[in-house]
Amino acid sequence: MPECGAPGPSTIECRQIADLLSDYLDGSLPKDTRELLEWHIEGCAPCVAFVKTYRGTITAATKLRDVEIPAELKQRLLAVLRNQRASHPSGA
Ligand SMILES: [Zn+2]
Repeated sequence: MPECGAPGPSTIECRQIADLLSDYLDGSLPKDTRELLEWHIEGCAPCVAFVKTYRGTITAATKLRDVEIPAELKQRLLAVLRNQRASHPSGA
């Protein structure tokens, strides 16, 4: 039977979620990429927690208390958030 979860050329890795998430929430992500991202998140608890954290959905995060965000992913999140703040559009 086919390998389950075998990485393919179009598979998104956890670390890519951080890069794509801002565009995803922006709605500026291409449909294909968006679907890949959603598909990944659906089957990846750490990424679900990641998205919740990113969005600041504290109430939902408490439900995922047992899900630890990998340290590497957490660092990516912080980096992205920092980046966003730095590139925040001026003259709001
Ligand atoms: Zn993931």
